[in-house]
Amino acid sequence: MNSTAQKGKKTYRKATPEEEKILEEEGMIKKGMQCPRCDRVIDYIRVDEIESIDDKTGEIKKHLYYYAGHKVKNEKGQTTVIYHYLGSLAYDYVERFNRLGLKGLIDLKRENKYLIQLLNKLSSENKFTVKDFEIMLDSIYNNIDKVAIDEDDKEIIIEKLQKILKKLKS
Ligand SMILES: [Zn+2]
Repeated sequence: MNSTAQKGKKTYRKATPEEEKILEEEGMIKKGMQCPRCDRVIDYIRVDEIESIDDKTGEIKKHLYYYAGHKVKNEKGQTTVIYHYLGSLAYDYVERFNRLGLKGLIDLKRENKYLIQLLNKLSSENKFTVKDFEIMLDSIYNNIDKVAIDEDDKEIIIEKLQKILKKLKS
């Protein structure tokens, strides 16, 4: 998110049939297909809309964040929904939902896959140093606020970080 922008109104909704059609035509995501993040079936697509106002220009922008929704059973056997973040799109308030900005979704998926593949290949052989690790952690620190993280995601990330801390301290 733009650092000069103020946080505005935030709403959650299901993707409209028009949006679903465009997402599908662009080869991005579709209800019923496998989620690029967890391979579960996508039961529906959620859209979070956040408006922001640029301090300097006063321009209102709308940021759309797309999530795959999965109906899953919890420990008590109750149906609950989990969401996986898929990508974002920002556009001027006056602009209609357009096809151009959507390219980011597919690129994001591809880049994420590369990054995960690289990380899984890390070993002492390819000389990944402590300095490299430091740079990577700094990069995560500097960019984490650009990722739309909901409360469930936060808990998962904190849990993972605590696991890393525990391992380092042992
Ligand atoms: Zn998923």
